[in-house]
Amino acid sequence: MSALRVFKFGGASVKSAEGIRNMAEIIRRQTSGNLVVVVSAIGKTTNALEEILSLYLAKSDEKANKLDQLKVFHTHIATELVGDSSSSHPLLAKVEQLFTELDEKMKFPPSGGYDYCYDQVVSYGELLSTTMVSFYLNQAGIRNRWIDIRKCLRSDTSYREGVVDFELSQYLCEKEFCFDSDHLFITQGFIAGTAEGTTTTLGREGSDYTAAVLANLLDATDVTIWKDVDGVLSADPKIFSNTCKLDFISYQEAIELAYCGAQVIHPKTIKPIQNKQIPLYVKSFINPEASGTTIGHSDVPLSLPPVLILKRNQALVSLTPHDFSFVIEESLSKIFAILYRHRVKVNLVQNSAISFTICVDDEHLRLPGAIEELQKTFTVRFNSNLELLTIRHYTSHVVDEMVGERIVYLQQRTRSNARFIMDARL
Ligand code: ASP
Ligand code: MG
Repeated sequence: MSALRVFKFGGASVKSAEGIRNMAEIIRRQTSGNLVVVVSAIGKTTNALEEILSLYLAKSDEKANKLDQLKVFHTHIATELVGDSSSSHPLLAKVEQLFTELDEKMKFPPSGGYDYCYDQVVSYGELLSTTMVSFYLNQAGIRNRWIDIRKCLRSDTSYREGVVDFELSQYLCEKEFCFDSDHLFITQGFIAGTAEGTTTTLGREGSDYTAAVLANLLDATDVTIWKDVDGVLSADPKIFSNTCKLDFISYQEAIELAYCGAQVIHPKTIKPIQNKQIPLYVKSFINPEASGTTIGHSDVPLSLPPVLILKRNQALVSLTPHDFSFVIEESLSKIFAILYRHRVKVNLVQNSAISFTICVDDEHLRLPGAIEELQKTFTVRFNSNLELLTIRHYTSHVVDEMVGERIVYLQQRTRSNARFIMDARL
């Protein structure tokens, strides 16, 4: 089989007709081999669908308006793409049909629980975007086949956090992506399907993960994530000044960065490609010829500049057993069982003989329940509105510059990381 590449385009790259045209030009330049293109929902559609879902569950009349706005938004882009506004145009009719289906889903009282409803509704963002992209490409002479990924990316029924069955998905994907007859496929990121035929999602920002999984299953030569930045940067330019692009980072470094909270790639993305040693390129869709960042295998430790990662909305929780007993294995396993049950994400851990401190995402839906349960066994002290700054490959100069005189609640240093929990800056 000739080489297979996987491209992933995020919401920002397809947020307008112009964006979709730009994407088409990037795809057109791939003149040989096979290509699978994974696309996210257009712009902020996933957020809009989350809002529509909440209005539906709250039985609010506002739902119809919001749904209508989203329909107008998509129809407008579709009209611009095809240069025709008549409702009988096949693409406009298809967009209309998807919105009707979505509306139908919300005609009845919700059943099956929040997570289930979420996936049945929110998945429409990717169904819409890929339908539009695929149609436009075909019209522009870039022949492609649209794949409903729910048929071949099989997940369990953990709604909102679907767990992919790699073995079965491999079998199904090999049949669905038939490179004998087609060479370009357009499919949805973020969503998958269960054995029962229901839809699941793979976690917010999960399209990167889909691209990595498909690359693994189909034995791709490489994966490219097209973004609105030049590559993986040494810090988020919206927060820090003086950032620079990292030309190459190892898989391990990418996992560390994602774990510390770097937004550039979804944390789950690396494992599927690392397992098969598939390189991942992060490139700019604005400047597609530029080199971007390569994430790949490296035997030697690479010297990297200090990398700054800021995680906002953090809480520091300190636990002391009511009877002042030591915090040892038994209590630790109890603490983690509670945190896991409530899906609280732990970002940093520190302990002393009788107290145990964790820095966690301050999620209003998850943390209070966990705290309540912890309070049965522990005295819980709690600070919120904090931020966690990680300086990877730190130097004392950068630490001074970033932390300086600020009050630090807790800090940890290893040879490569310095981490500081501080009050959030206004
Ligand atoms: N559209 C989904 C989201 O916004 C998935 C993705 O963009 O990766 O979370
Ligand atoms: Mg997105």
